[in-house]
Amino acid sequence: MAYIEPAPIKDKENPLESMMERFNIAAEKLGLSDEVYNVLKNPAKQVIVSVPITMDNGKIKVFEGMRVVHSNILGPAKGGIRFAPDVHLDEVKALAAWMTWKCAVVDIPYGGAKGGVRCNPREMSQGEIERLVRAYTLAMINVFGPDKDIPAPDMGTGPREMAWLMDEYSKAHGMTVNAVVTGKPLVLGGSLGRTEATGRGVMVSAMSAMAKLKINPFQATCAVQGFGNVGSWAAQLLEERGLKIIAVSDVSGAYFNDKGIAISEAIAYRDGNGGILEGFSGAEKLSSPGELLELQVDVLVPAAVEDVITIKNVDKVKAKLIVEGANGPTSFKADKIINQKGIMAVPDILANAGGVTVSYFEWVQNRLGYKWTAERVNRRSDRIMKEAFDSVYVTSQKYEVPLRIAAYIVAIDKVAKTYNYRGGF
Ligand code: NAD
Repeated sequence: MAYIEPAPIKDKENPLESMMERFNIAAEKLGLSDEVYNVLKNPAKQVIVSVPITMDNGKIKVFEGMRVVHSNILGPAKGGIRFAPDVHLDEVKALAAWMTWKCAVVDIPYGGAKGGVRCNPREMSQGEIERLVRAYTLAMINVFGPDKDIPAPDMGTGPREMAWLMDEYSKAHGMTVNAVVTGKPLVLGGSLGRTEATGRGVMVSAMSAMAKLKINPFQATCAVQGFGNVGSWAAQLLEERGLKIIAVSDVSGAYFNDKGIAISEAIAYRDGNGGILEGFSGAEKLSSPGELLELQVDVLVPAAVEDVITIKNVDKVKAKLIVEGANGPTSFKADKIINQKGIMAVPDILANAGGVTVSYFEWVQNRLGYKWTAERVNRRSDRIMKEAFDSVYVTSQKYEVPLRIAAYIVAIDKVAKTYNYRGGF
C-alpha cells in the first residue's frame, strides 16, 4: 500500500473507539459471557522493541517498533506493518483487533495482528528503510512465523519492504520461508490478483447488496472517494458491471461528470500525472471535495481514509447504499443516522476483506509451493466474499440489526465458539 499522509480527524470521534462501540453492541446481542468478552477484548500479545540502525550520516538512531497479536484463536495471526511518524500502541492494538474480526467474517483461518514502527519513511533513504525493516524483523524473529504471525504491508510499507522482511527471516532460519509474509512481489511468491483484490471484493459486496436492494446496476450511479489502489479498482470493476461512475476523488479534489467518468482514462491520467487526478479533463472539479459524499447516487464507496462520514455531514448523504472500501470511514454516531435514514451500509470488515482473503491465498500457494492463475484466485475470492456477504445478511435479518452489527456478530460468534471448543486453562 502506498504511503499516505495520516488524514486529519474530522470530528472528535476516534474511529477505533467507534469500532469498540460496535463490538460491544454485537457482544450484547450475542449474549457473550463476561469471561469470553474479556478474552476477546484484550490483545493476546504486545511486543515493543527498540530498533537501532545506522543512518546514512553514520549516526545510530533508535526507532520504536511494536507488534500486537490480538488473537490467534482461529489460526496464525495476520496483519500489516505500518511505518508512520505517529504510530501509537493503542492504535496498533485496535487495528489488530480489527484484523481478528475481518478474518473471522470472511471465514479464513487467521487471527488478527498489527505492527508498527514509529518513523517517517518519506524522510529516509532506501538504504535506511531497508536496514530498519531488517532490524525490526530480527527483533521480532520469535514473534513472526508462517504458523504464528504473518505480516503484510500497511501504510508506509509495500512489496519492497515485505521482500526484505522475508529475506531477513529466511536468512535467520537458514532456508527460504516465503510464507512468513504476504504482499510480496510476484517473483518472490506474491499472488496474482492481490493488487486488485480489495477493490474486487468491494465490487462483489456492492453487487450483492444491490441485488438485495433491487438496484439495477445498468441504471445505477456511483461515487467513489479515493482513487488509489482500492478506489480505482472498485470504480473500474463496478463500471465494467454497468454502473455509471459519476464522481471520483483523491487528495487533489473531487471530479464530477453526470454522463459518467471513463475510469480507464482517469487511471491512465493519474498514472501519468504523479498519482493524482488534478487537471483531468474527463470531469469537472467540484468546489469542495466533501461534496462527493453528498451527491445523489445509488452507491457511495468511501475508499480513501477513515472518519469521513460523521455527524457533521451524514444528514446530507443521499446514497441508497454505502460500501466501505476504506477502514473506518463512518463514525459510530453517523451510523445511527444512516440506519434511521434506511441507507444500507456494507461495513469495512466485510467490504474490504478481499485483500486479506487473497493474502491468505498467497500464503496457501507459498505453502503448497504452487502458483494459481489469476482466474482461480478471482473465482475463489469472489466466492468467499459472496458467501460472507450472504452470511452477514442472514444474520442481520435474524437479529434485526444493520449489516455492520451483523458482521461483528458473525465474527465474534465464530471466534468465541472456537475459543470455547479449544478451551482455556
Ligand atoms: P492508496 O494510498 O493506494 O490510496 C488512497 C487514495 O485516497 C489516494 O487516491 C489518495 O489521494 C486518496 N485520499 C487521501 N486522502 C484523501 C481525502 N481526504 N479525500 C479524498 N481522497 C483522499 O490506499 P489504498 O490502499 O487504496 O487504501 C485506501 C483505504 O482502504 C485505506 O483506508 C486502507 O486502510 C483501506 N484498505 C486497503 C486495503 C488494500 O488492500 N490496499 C485493504 C483493506 C483496506
